[in-house]
Amino acid sequence: MISITSIQDLRRQIAQERLKSHSIGFVPTMGALHKGHISLIKEAKKHNQTCIASIFVNPLQFNNVEDFNKYPIQNEKDIQLLKDAGCDYLFLPSVAEFYPATPKLSIHIGPLDRILEGAHRPGHFSGVAIVVSKLFHMVMPDKAYFGQKDLQQVAVINQLVNELDFPIEIITCPIIREESGLAMSSRNMRLSAAGKTVAANIFLCLEFLEKALKNGIGTPVQPIQKMGMDFLNQFEGIRVEYLEIVQADTLQTITHLEPGSNVAVCVAAYVEEVRLIDNLVIIL
Ligand code: AMP
Repeated sequence: MISITSIQDLRRQIAQERLKSHSIGFVPTMGALHKGHISLIKEAKKHNQTCIASIFVNPLQFNNVEDFNKYPIQNEKDIQLLKDAGCDYLFLPSVAEFYPATPKLSIHIGPLDRILEGAHRPGHFSGVAIVVSKLFHMVMPDKAYFGQKDLQQVAVINQLVNELDFPIEIITCPIIREESGLAMSSRNMRLSAAGKTVAANIFLCLEFLEKALKNGIGTPVQPIQKMGMDFLNQFEGIRVEYLEIVQADTLQTITHLEPGSNVAVCVAAYVEEVRLIDNLVIIL
């Protein structure tokens, strides 16, 4: 695997790959890699001749300075994991290389920015849209791979690609979980063993709601949403920020459970002051 830190070198290498008519699969990450990230690399590797990963902890998308400062960094370990997964290139720019000056631009996302993560993390999706746009311009991949773990991020990136005509296919990959059901996340490294055990109840709640939603087809959503809140609130170590049952594609609120519709249960909760998100998409 070739590690690259400058944008100029990245462009040079990509030009070489293009000369060979190689298709490029791209996996943007913020590092502290786990099996969830590696599943995206494997998928990119399977369907493209060249696989490029990036590791960049993007300061623009952190609405909380403490969260940014505490974000885990383990570049040596990440490089080994990427090599083992067969990744061809790693782009690992510094903040000074990536943003020679702090961008004055912000991207107005629209309705998606007023719900769920958008509503609770002001400026987050603008930061995501800027970093992803810049990375797409630099890498110019054929396909880019994102995890359903960040369901709303996928919706924002699909909107970005459609509305700005990036000639890139966005591939969404399933959530990889621990045996306990806890969705893998770089932030899990900040949890104690006891914290991880408590956090696994978030997935139990999603499974509990899946059954309740399937039994509740044709009924209003609100009582089932309350059942989910009550389920999580019984655990002292979990502080729920939101639990919403929404339309799976638009992520907009629904009032009734229509047969045949796709709904998503989206949760954000704190365990040991670590903010965790998870979701489950359910076909009714
Ligand atoms: P991050 O490094 O957290 O920005 O994540 C980089 C990519 O990996 C994003 O597309 C995430 O959605 C994806 N990802 C993170 N956790 C998981 C997981 N548990 N399963 C699948 N994909 C994931």
